[in-house]
Amino acid sequence: MIGMLLIKNRHTLSSILDKKVAEGKTIGFVPTMGALHEGHVSLVNSSGLENNVTVCSIFVNPSQFNDASDFEKYPVRLEQDIQLLENSKCDIVFFPSRDGIYPASHQEKKYILGYLENILEGKYRPGHFQGVCQVVDILLQIVKPDKLYLGQKDYQQCLVIDRLVHMMGLKEKVEIKIRPTVREMDGLAMSSRNLRLNDNESKNATMLNRSLNFIKKNWQELPFGDLLNEAKKMLTDNELRIDYVEIADAETLQLVNEWDRKQKLVAVVAAFAGEVRLIDNMILN
Ligand code: AMP
Repeated sequence: MIGMLLIKNRHTLSSILDKKVAEGKTIGFVPTMGALHEGHVSLVNSSGLENNVTVCSIFVNPSQFNDASDFEKYPVRLEQDIQLLENSKCDIVFFPSRDGIYPASHQEKKYILGYLENILEGKYRPGHFQGVCQVVDILLQIVKPDKLYLGQKDYQQCLVIDRLVHMMGLKEKVEIKIRPTVREMDGLAMSSRNLRLNDNESKNATMLNRSLNFIKKNWQELPFGDLLNEAKKMLTDNELRIDYVEIADAETLQLVNEWDRKQKLVAVVAAFAGEVRLIDNMILN
């Protein structure tokens, strides 16, 4: 497409995309909450390489915030986001209003997420994944993409959305593409929330990645209990408040105490630097 389109209205977007599909074009979709960084851009550019039309949505979804102050403080900077996307492979920016996504007639659905709903992020952010499913369900109905681009940084979210796509009967229609976590030079996983860190918190936050590297380096030598205790000490010694540090089965996220010598493992961490909650993960094998 020539020139990037900025679209606020869902019906306008649907009719443009319907025409593209009728012309035989493929649609790639990158849902975001804005305050974009190179991690988001990497998803957009992946989509640009693999589809005829790339749509990036920017919508700070109220229903996925279990903490009201986290929602209020979530960074919003649409103009800068648009500038960043101008220099990417994005074709259409979709930035709906709250009413555009959740009109008064919106009926909240309940999604059956099973085990994924109550562990790790689900346990520490009750209701979060229901909110994620609400918005992704609606966005998928509007955009109807061929490919959906997600970041590995939000590992559990990838599994939840995979399940959602399955539940919506879209498994054959929408291919999920998970892209690697983009990091700052110091290893900190890029996140919109990093904008809220002061210099000291930002330095301490690098320990999330360093603790994961420590786990990756030592998981075959040390019992998992000792390994996790050591990783936790690295975090608390650097003024981070831990929600969890765990090793889990990378396919199911079932927590693992001992490797069965077959399963693929992922180490996951969530911790606060000051007021800001950060997450990260690393595949171990
Ligand atoms: P968010 O705007 O934080 O909701 O993220 C939108 C999408 O970008 C999600 O699929 C995230 O997993 C992905 N994402 C966020 N941070 C990164 C990163 N550092 N590297 C790669 N993808 C990311």
